[in-house]
Amino acid sequence: MTKAHVLGYPRIGAKRELTFALEKYWRGAIGAAELEQVAAQIRLANWREQADAGLDWVSVGDFSLYDHVLDTSLLFGTIPSRFGVAKFDADSELDIYFRMARGRACVGDAKETYACEMTKWFDTNYHYLKPEIGPEQQFSLHPRRLLSQVKQALASGFTPKPVLLGPLSFLWLAKTSVEFDRLNLLPNLVPVYQELLQQLRELGVEWVQIDEPVLVLNLPKAWQQAYETVYDQLSAGNPKLMLTTYFEALGDNLTLAANLPVAGLHIDCVRAPDQLEDILPHTPPYKILSLGLVDGRNIWRSDFDHALSLLRQAKDLLGQRLWVGSSCSLLHSPVDLAGETQLDPELFCWLGFAKQKLGEVKLLAIALSDGEEAVANAFAEQRSALAARKRSTLVVNKQIRAAVAEIPDQALRRQNGFNKRAALQRQRLKLPLWPTTTIGSFPQTDSIRRTRSQYRSRQIDDDQYQTAMQQEIANTIAQQEQLGLDVLVHGEAERNDMVEYFGEFLQGIAVTLNGWVQSYGSRCVKPPIIYGDIVRDKPMTVKWAQYAQSLSTKPVKGMLTGPVTILQWSFVRNDQDRSQTCRQIAFALRQEVLDLESAGITIIQVDEPALREGLPLHRDDWDAYLKWAVDAFKLATCGVQDATQIHTHMCYAEFNDILRHIAALDADVITLETSRSRMELLQAFHDYEYPNDIGPGVYDIHSPRTPAVSEMITLLAKAARSIPAQRLWVNPDCGLKTRSWPEVEAALKNMVSAAKQLRATAMPKVSALLE
Ligand code: GLN
Ligand code: ZN
Repeated sequence: MTKAHVLGYPRIGAKRELTFALEKYWRGAIGAAELEQVAAQIRLANWREQADAGLDWVSVGDFSLYDHVLDTSLLFGTIPSRFGVAKFDADSELDIYFRMARGRACVGDAKETYACEMTKWFDTNYHYLKPEIGPEQQFSLHPRRLLSQVKQALASGFTPKPVLLGPLSFLWLAKTSVEFDRLNLLPNLVPVYQELLQQLRELGVEWVQIDEPVLVLNLPKAWQQAYETVYDQLSAGNPKLMLTTYFEALGDNLTLAANLPVAGLHIDCVRAPDQLEDILPHTPPYKILSLGLVDGRNIWRSDFDHALSLLRQAKDLLGQRLWVGSSCSLLHSPVDLAGETQLDPELFCWLGFAKQKLGEVKLLAIALSDGEEAVANAFAEQRSALAARKRSTLVVNKQIRAAVAEIPDQALRRQNGFNKRAALQRQRLKLPLWPTTTIGSFPQTDSIRRTRSQYRSRQIDDDQYQTAMQQEIANTIAQQEQLGLDVLVHGEAERNDMVEYFGEFLQGIAVTLNGWVQSYGSRCVKPPIIYGDIVRDKPMTVKWAQYAQSLSTKPVKGMLTGPVTILQWSFVRNDQDRSQTCRQIAFALRQEVLDLESAGITIIQVDEPALREGLPLHRDDWDAYLKWAVDAFKLATCGVQDATQIHTHMCYAEFNDILRHIAALDADVITLETSRSRMELLQAFHDYEYPNDIGPGVYDIHSPRTPAVSEMITLLAKAARSIPAQRLWVNPDCGLKTRSWPEVEAALKNMVSAAKQLRATAMPKVSALLE
């Protein structure tokens, strides 16, 4: 029988139990024991799902209380010195863990400090915490957590397949404060992995999944060579290793990966089906190949015929040395489709979430071993769903296709260059130096959530909802006036989520009831499903923006989510090119931008936090992507008058290597997340001679701590060394919706006073404020 497995399962729980438990724990409402109990229940439920679906293993170690890369840092004792960890044991572990994740172990933590840097996991919207390593880094093994989970799985009668992040990916994904060759750390790190594998073997583990996703990137020669040495060392005498790669084709690393001395290799045949043909002849006769055929990153039902044809092609050469799997961890899928009772029944039939994907993996394994007849009904049903989707009238809108095809090139350019526009905008907006603003959202309070949920369940009508939201907006505006901010926002109270909100308005996009996916830590998002051509048939944000502006003489920013971000944070149709879908979204947003402008909004922010994460993992594909991504932003924003100021915002990603393209967006102002990296990012903007205004984030919004005025002044003074102060704005790292009002007030009060002190300081003296 062909073996079936998945690379990991969602860890948030079917009803987001983890989210709620974490938040209670941090508030002090429950203790560690209760948190651990919720975690154990989720793990048990996940294993049961996998076993019930008939998979040959259950994943262990894929679960995490916050992030699996952070787990790996602790597993190997990689704790930055600022956390002052003298001893690391079961009692202190949880505090250290959450302090690294969020700066603070729980409410009232006396040892709070700034958290580890968070960034996106490859091209996904999942965020991981960067390990921090230095040239003298030592590693030590702390396997208690992992081993106890393995034991728990064994004791419950499951066959565990522990999942580890491989040593080379771990080092590659780490952050270093000084330049050094991180491969020099391998002699310290590999023995710790060996020790761990040894302990797993002693527990009776047969297979360990070792994730090496960086193998799909373009790697330097030295790293390729290191792979051979490291896996020579790790495979000797240990449990069998299933080395997994995902999110892209192996590319240049294909023969290297095929020949690594490990028992198995997993490749992603959803993102890169063509690599199968290339890898088969290189696969040595001892090795098992695991084909990722069920998409872990999207929600469309699998095309069984296509998958089976790939499997048969592999079986011809490999015989029994073949496993079927998910393309990557199902972490990136929502948990269960069954609850989606409000989806169009037609659309519903085209979809599968994590739980359904387990079934698909198993069906493919059976079809391959026992022949299609063994699963004839399931195959027939799947085929008819796929055929219905192809024929459906929900998908195509001829008019919008024609309109998008006819967009002229000049629609993608502002009338004049930045300097001319900036002069007009200065005249109109009359802002002080170091203008202060926020990124858009203010706390999503219980009262806001309650109002939205009452509206959804029709307990209150349109008018009542409108009045309640206007009240929230009025409060938010009043607070900002009181704090003395210069450019205000309406606060995004009406938005459950910055992408889903637009998904609810646009035709061609559906939203789910419970399709949650982890974004970071306790935070989940519900990506909408883009299933058809996109049409904006009415304004989406104008009345809120207009109302907010009517309450203040200061400018209030109109707030939109950019086309690339909507694309990137949705489940995207797989029946047309992403670039085409993105252009349709941009065209819809352009109409919204123009309506905001006509309604008297003078500043419009189009957020593109996901621009960087959409970057293809292979360098060769970058230019094509960046061209259509930048074009989409320009299509959305370039219709306005020169005196209308366009802002954009980006966060939690590396921007150094795409600065040219960020500049090509030609936004008048870009606000960025920079505080965790202590403004390091700005040096690159300086070196590139980035021409437009920049608002570097001066405090970390993920952390509940209030940064001191002096801390922010130091950061801004540091920023002014890279960027002329005249072009600097003052703002937090990102939106404030996850914070509480007292936290927000305290932090913004300090931020405004930092800006005021800087204004009062003669420019040359600014640099004297540096530490
Ligand atoms: N305007 C959004 C907000 O403030 C931007 C969030 C983001 O960048 N992810 O919440
Ligand atoms: Zn942001």
